[in-house]
Amino acid sequence: MRYSQTLIPTLKETPAEAEVVSHRLMLRAGFIRKLSAGIYSYLPLGLAAIRKVENIVREEMNRAGAQEILMPMVQPADLWIETGRYEKYGPELLRFKDRHNRESCLGPTHEEVITDIARKELHSYRDLPINLYQIQTKFRDEIRPRFGLMRGREFVMKDAYSFDVSDEAATLSYQKMYEAYKRIFSRCGLQYRAVQADSGSIGGNFSHEFMVLAETGEDTIVVCKSCEYAANMEKAVVVVEKKEQTEPLAELEKIETPGKRKVTAVCDFLKIEPTQLVKTMVFKADGVPVAVLVRGDREVEDVKLKNLLGVAEVEMADDKEVFDATGVPTGYLGPVGIKIKVVADQEVANMQNFYVGGNEKNYHLKNVNLERDCVIDGMADLRQITTSDPCPECGGKLGLTEGIEVGHIFKLGTGYSESMNATFQDKDGKDKHLVMGCYGIGVTRIVAAAIEQNNDDNGIIFPLPIAPVSVVILNLGINDAVITDAAEKLYSEFLSAGVQVLIDDRDERPGFKFKDADLLGTPFRVTVGKGFAKTGLVEVKTRKDGKVEEMTPEKALSTLQEKIVAALR
Ligand SMILES: [Zn+2]
Repeated sequence: MRYSQTLIPTLKETPAEAEVVSHRLMLRAGFIRKLSAGIYSYLPLGLAAIRKVENIVREEMNRAGAQEILMPMVQPADLWIETGRYEKYGPELLRFKDRHNRESCLGPTHEEVITDIARKELHSYRDLPINLYQIQTKFRDEIRPRFGLMRGREFVMKDAYSFDVSDEAATLSYQKMYEAYKRIFSRCGLQYRAVQADSGSIGGNFSHEFMVLAETGEDTIVVCKSCEYAANMEKAVVVVEKKEQTEPLAELEKIETPGKRKVTAVCDFLKIEPTQLVKTMVFKADGVPVAVLVRGDREVEDVKLKNLLGVAEVEMADDKEVFDATGVPTGYLGPVGIKIKVVADQEVANMQNFYVGGNEKNYHLKNVNLERDCVIDGMADLRQITTSDPCPECGGKLGLTEGIEVGHIFKLGTGYSESMNATFQDKDGKDKHLVMGCYGIGVTRIVAAAIEQNNDDNGIIFPLPIAPVSVVILNLGINDAVITDAAEKLYSEFLSAGVQVLIDDRDERPGFKFKDADLLGTPFRVTVGKGFAKTGLVEVKTRKDGKVEEMTPEKALSTLQEKIVAALR
């Protein structure tokens, strides 16, 4: 690749529209250009990085026995009506009519189309298992597309779908994909974690998100420092050991707490710790008020509450709503004699003779005991995990980190095959529904996430396996025959060795070339400069650690070739 003949429109200024570092750097490095909101053109180097990711994904999917297909982007509405998703999917599904007035949509995902293929082509248990995948452009009409390739409307995705005879067989297909995904993200050179995406119900966990770790991630994840456990904050399991109730139950007492409404104020006034107090918080669960009990120093986790109550929406009630539902002013609510449904965090069961609001202005209750004094409608893990909680798998220490979701795998079961009547004949001659799994990877998102994870003030620092080119050669003497000959010779030798290389042969000042080389994030830079005629040495710089070494062109070729082979192995 010759810089002088390649479209690499780098920018000096940071584009005002870019909010995150990957977006900023991809625009500045001339990788992408915006066409309209959330829709981008991929220019030569941007596309080269995307192709690198695609190739790794393709190789690992094929290795896992999946077969590549390509499904249409335009889909008939009829299929979506069959599964009920034409209604449910909402405005993210871009709908339109063709010239014959047929309702159609642009595919945001392909469960309907693949299930249609399966019901027509898979008839017998002998056809199974099968896993079909595609690498294709998807369209989701996001309300607020932003962050460049991180949250675009049009993007490249790999989606795979497995079909099996039974749930056990589907588990094997799932595990194969889990392993393939680990290989894919490792081979891309990314720091990542496989995160449990549901709360680990009995019988194993069959939904994982693959998160690239980055300071600018969209999700907070909990990771174990000792084992592989990782989970989304809202899904992380809090383990509380059941404690024996050792203290004798003391007599319930009403105590005056004039004007003390907040946990800290009550604790200061009574000279107690927040761990001796139980907060009573009111949430609207699909509009219905429910009181939630947690220890004074804990926070309620909305998602866990939603799961326990089996509702779609939970929201904190405001002061007026609390008063309307309970007749108690904010700050004095408690579970003893409360008029609404009460659920408790599991930890409260371990507490004895604790403090709660007195359900009366300026009063609290002392020596409350859950079993003796309260009527509870449900108890579960309802609070946010903290770094002082133990790892639910190994008991080790937990840490918090940010992550960007780049892959998601899950078992679908028979939902789609039932609604679309996709069956096969089993060994026993009976017709059964196909058991499905689906597996996505955001290909364009991986490139953005890799940049979020690997950059500095000067630009991108590409992991070698997905860098558009591995080496950039700077010719700092375009009008000097000795320098140019050496640079060109090295360029053709790298090409012959099969190394992807860019030669900066532009008639530009050295400072300009150095800046652009850093910005593009090419892993290795070889500079043929003024000193070459005297010393016969070129300068080799590693983008990642900034290490600079002088060596002969022959040595540069062999050293880098070796390093590149090792990194791609
Ligand atoms: Zn652990």
